[in-house]
Order: sequence, then C-alpha cells, then structure tokens
Amino acid sequence: MDLTWSAEEDAFRAEARSWLETNVAIWRAIHGGEPASGDTREGFAQHLDWERRLFDDGWAVVSWPSEHGGRDASLWEWLIFEEEYYRAGCPPRVTQNGIFLLAPSIFEFGTPSQQAGILRRMAAGDDLWCQGWSEPNAGSDLASVTSRAERVDGGWTLNGQKTWTTRGAFCTHVFGLFRTDPASERHRGLTYLLMPLDTPGVTVRGFGRLDGDEGFAEVFFEDAFLADDAVPGGVVLGEPEGGWSVAMATAGSERGLTLRSPGRFLATAERLLALARARGGDDGVRRRAATAWMHADAYQQQTLMTVTKLADGAKPGAEASLTKLWWSELDIELHEIALDLLGPDAEVDGPWSKAWQFSLSGPIYAGTNEIQRNIAAERLLGLPR
Ligand SMILES: Cc1cc2nc3c(=O)[nH]c(=O)nc-3n(C[C@H](O)[C@H](O)[C@H](O)COP(=O)(O)OP(=O)(O)OC[C@H]3O[C@@H](n4cnc5c(N)ncnc54)[C@H](O)[C@@H]3O)c2cc1C
Repeated sequence: MDLTWSAEEDAFRAEARSWLETNVAIWRAIHGGEPASGDTREGFAQHLDWERRLFDDGWAVVSWPSEHGGRDASLWEWLIFEEEYYRAGCPPRVTQNGIFLLAPSIFEFGTPSQQAGILRRMAAGDDLWCQGWSEPNAGSDLASVTSRAERVDGGWTLNGQKTWTTRGAFCTHVFGLFRTDPASERHRGLTYLLMPLDTPGVTVRGFGRLDGDEGFAEVFFEDAFLADDAVPGGVVLGEPEGGWSVAMATAGSERGLTLRSPGRFLATAERLLALARARGGDDGVRRRAATAWMHADAYQQQTLMTVTKLADGAKPGAEASLTKLWWSELDIELHEIALDLLGPDAEVDGPWSKAWQFSLSGPIYAGTNEIQRNIAAERLLGLPR
C-alpha cells in the first residue's frame, strides 16, 4: 500500500477543492444560506439543484466513464473527491441510492443498452432512483420477500408492497426485488426489476420520520402492468430469477465502499475537534473526541487498503459487513461526543442534534448491525450458525 499521493492526484484534489468551495457557497447563497433538509419536499428540490450543478461541471459521478457523465477518475481520485466534498461542507447526496447503490450493479450486471439508457440520466438527476427492497414482513430477512411479478404478454403484472423506501415520495424510479417464481422459496425465484414510479397501478405514499421529515415512502403495487420497455434496455437487471445475487452485489456497495466514504467522517471528526477546542470540556470528553478522530482516521486507512485490493481486481465480499459496523458506530460516537460537549445547548443546536438523530439509524439501514455481526461470524470467522 503506497500512502503517498502522486502529482496528478494532488492536482485533482486542488481542482476539486476549488470547484467545491466556490460552488457550494453559491448554492447556499441562492437558497438563503441554510437550505432545508433533503428529506423534505422543499429541501429535496434545493438539493436537486445542487446535484445538477455537480453534473453540469462533471463532478456528479467522478469515477464513472465520461460517456455516462463521469470524468474517468480512479478509485483513489474518487476517495480524494469525497474527502474534499465533505471538507467543503457540501450537502448529503439526495441521488445516493441511484449513484452509489444501483449504479455499481448496473455497471456489473446491466446490458450495454441499459447502461447507455439509465446511467447518464441518473447522474444528471433526470431520473431519481429509490430502493424498494424492504417489505412489512421482509427486513433483515430479505429472502422472505412476497411482492410478486407475474410474466404476461409484453411485460409483468406486479402485486405487493414495499416500505421504508428512502425519499420514495420525491423519486421517479424504483429498483426492487420481486418473486417471479410463485413456487420458489427464500433466495430463489426472485427477479431484480427496474421501473418508473408513475407506472399505472403503483401508488407511492410518503410518510414522516420521527424528526418529521417526509423521508420515507410506502409503495403499493396493485395489478400494476410494467411493460418490458418501460426502462431503456429492459426492466430486468441481470437474469430473471437471478435477482438475489444482483441484490447482494448492491448490498455490498451499500455496506462497503460507496455509500459512506471516510471523507464524511473525517470532516465530522475535524468539526468535532474544533467544537472541543471552542467549548473546552473536561479531560474525559476531550480524550473521547481525540479517540473518535483516530477512529475516523483508522476508517480512512482501512478504506485505502480496500481500494488497493479492488484496484488489484478483488471483489468486495463479506468484509463489507465489518466496514458497515465501523462507520455506523463511528457516526454515533462522533455525534454523542458533540452533544456532550454542547451540554444543554445541544437542544438548540440544529445541525449537530439533527445529525445525531440520523446517526442513530445507521445501525438499522443497509442491513442491521446484528445481521452484519452474524455475517462476520459465519462467513469471516467460520463460526457455526
Ligand atoms: C434510515 C433508514 C433508511 C432506509 N431506507 C431503506 C430503503 O431505501 N429501501 C429499503 O428497502 N429499506 C430501507 N430501510 C429499511 C431497512 O433496510 C430495514 O429497516 C432493516 O433491514 C431492518 O429490517 P426491519 O426494520 O424489518 O427490522 P427486523 O428485521 O424486524 O429486525 C428487528 C430487530 O431484530 C433483529 N434481528 C432480526 N433478525 C435477526 C437475526 N437473524 N439475528 C439477530 N438479530 C436479528 C434486527 O437486528 C433488529 O434489531 C431503511 C431503514 C432506515 C432506518
């Protein structure tokens, strides 16, 4: 592992830093200084304006090929970009479930016409993708999905319900797992489908989270007819009835590298140290802040190791579960220390307290931490089920 950056990588960093610092300031000024949360209708539109600025100047999806709207950056440069992104205080990516979860699976399993028809529009924020996996009775146990798709002339008829669909009420498209072989059980007989949310027979009902933001939706399918050509290149990603392995590849991206890069936590750790300097605090809390900063740095080092392996052709595997445990627990640690430093002022400090509330959901989304521990125990340590 070579921990030095090349002259080209330093130049890439400087270019990214300059663009991000200038443009995030412009974007904030346009939206009154502090744009609304991206999980509200108003805030989502403001964040979309940001996404389109990124795309117009080639910064939306830096590591993608230029034909799909990227700039052919290496994985190393992508990490640098992410560091600079959060360092400059840029907002959460409201397109994340498309660009960070679905897109890696489209690159891996999509046909050339799916790639050509879907990726660029996704990067541009023209099509907005949400993830339709969880159901009222299928969360941790995703293999118990019961939403079904029946093959009919020219397409599929869909019935069932998805839930916890992040930003579903604001998105235009959903990717989901459906049972296409009615006689199948568990992981078999599932198909990974891509579809527009305005498909007749599909109803999207947004609902509020505990913090009041309409960040979730339920999606209902009632004899919805999904035409084979409803999405460019076709609505099935991968093989029909081979949906489970595609879904596991998507989950690997979600838990492992792409959804939560170290840049996000390095920036939070720096802000935490600044807060500790400003607020003083006793030795105990200052020591915890320093330890949390080191945990963020350790995540960065571990990611550099992962990227080294990926650059050598390795595929992300069960190790992604360890990564997910690390970043989700680190996020809570950083925010709890901030609240301790703020004391009663935490009640009125919007950003730290709102981010702390969201950090508490980290051990749940992308597969709960209990499930990640099960995976690590069985598949990495070889312990019995
Ligand atoms: C902020 C957020 C965003 C989300 N976004 C999406 C989205 O966009 N799309 C989507 O499809 N889903 C989404 N989800 C849903 C998420 O994937 C599920 O909440 C998660 O998989 C857990 O499923 P569940 O809620 O049904 O809980 P359950 O599976 O019912 O689990 C309840 C508890 O039991 C534990 N448990 C269950 N099985 C085991 C076991 N075998 N061993 C040990 N413990 C176990 C769990 O760890 C958990 O603590 C989101 C969730 C959150 C919090």
